[in-house]
Amino acid sequence: MSYAKALRCRECGREYPLEPIHVCEFCFGPLEVEYDYDAISQVISREKIAQGPIGMWRYRDLLPVDSEEVVDISAGFTPLIKADNLGREFGLRELYVKNDCVNPTYSFKDRVVSVAITKAKEFGFDTVACASTGNLACSVAAHAAKCGLKAYVFVPSDLEQGKMIGTAIYGPTLVAVNGNYDEVNRLCSEISDKYRWAFVNINIRPYYSEGSKTLGYEVAEQLGWRAPEHAVVPVASGSLLSKIWKGLNELALLGLIGPVKTRMYATQAEGSAPIVAAFRAGSTHVHPVRPNTIVKSLAIGNPAEGYFALKTIQESQGAACAVSDAEVVDGMKLLAETEGIFAETAGGVVVASLKRLAAEGAIKPDELTVAFITGCGLKTQEAIAGSLKPPLTIDANLASFEEALKEQA
Ligand SMILES: *Cc1c(COP(=O)(O)O)cnc(C)c1O
Ligand SMILES: [Zn+2]
Repeated sequence: MSYAKALRCRECGREYPLEPIHVCEFCFGPLEVEYDYDAISQVISREKIAQGPIGMWRYRDLLPVDSEEVVDISAGFTPLIKADNLGREFGLRELYVKNDCVNPTYSFKDRVVSVAITKAKEFGFDTVACASTGNLACSVAAHAAKCGLKAYVFVPSDLEQGKMIGTAIYGPTLVAVNGNYDEVNRLCSEISDKYRWAFVNINIRPYYSEGSKTLGYEVAEQLGWRAPEHAVVPVASGSLLSKIWKGLNELALLGLIGPVKTRMYATQAEGSAPIVAAFRAGSTHVHPVRPNTIVKSLAIGNPAEGYFALKTIQESQGAACAVSDAEVVDGMKLLAETEGIFAETAGGVVVASLKRLAAEGAIKPDELTVAFITGCGLKTQEAIAGSLKPPLTIDANLASFEEALKEQA
């Protein structure tokens, strides 16, 4: 059994049983999982975690699943690397990159989906589904394949090839909707009212979003049980940002790390930056926008958890930053050329934002900073294909090679 006690409304505090529900009946606020932290503190320790599996399930005491057997394709425990080369570019000496590109379906979404699909099985669903900006589709399809559930995944029809193929390969019903993510999401809400399916980011959302906490736990453990001073995070719905914050604060509450002084930074592309716009306006109220950016994984114009992302920024004394598509491409290239990591467009957003934050002096040279790189660039090749050096194309002889070398010089 898990240490989850109840679902609790994030607006009015009303409690609900642990069922596949996601909104408060009284105020329509989103529901969140509540835990019995006294009980957890009796059983958890750094040593126990260290002896656990090499993956996100080493933190299972802090996740809301009851079953012995979880649906696991080996998400998590991804590398945290000291990024000295990238840091030098920005004048930062204590910069780390959390490389979540190397998850089983090449994005951090495997963390949230592993929890969501385990829960869907517990609740007895035979079909899972999602509304996705791309990476979620890949991950839901893969986890459904692993545990033998049917899957319906809905994506905007203009998605990158890498995400379409990277989803279709697992054999789900892939539905390409002529519309943007917000329209896909609206359609899926309607479908979820009519069909008894586990929509991982709709009716299972309270459980799903808990999976993101493991990024916070891992970073703290990998830093030798401490929280960073700055966390730079890509933001779509706003869930990841507030759950990293929740995860760090849970560790402090349980005495596994000291007080959390992390500043949380939300980063978006200028063409889809409703949360950054609200932050700049000094508001926690998000005005929806119509996304237009190459950063498709973050292209949510009406973010479900925008308010909570903004509260997290406020509470942590962080900030928000938006960058242009051109800066995104430069950021992707710089990360690859300095650290050997080929991130997707969302990673470009993070690197470009980090550059700004360092230049503005928000992040000082010796402050411990973690850049969260959440998805792999092989899935978003369209974004950079046109801006890379073409290969030297030659005939298969030495003379042709040397001629090409001369021309290049
Ligand atoms: C989904 C996604 C995010 C952000 O997720 P939210 O929790 O919705 O804010 C960040 N990076 C990548 C690559 C994603 O696919
Ligand atoms: Zn409520």
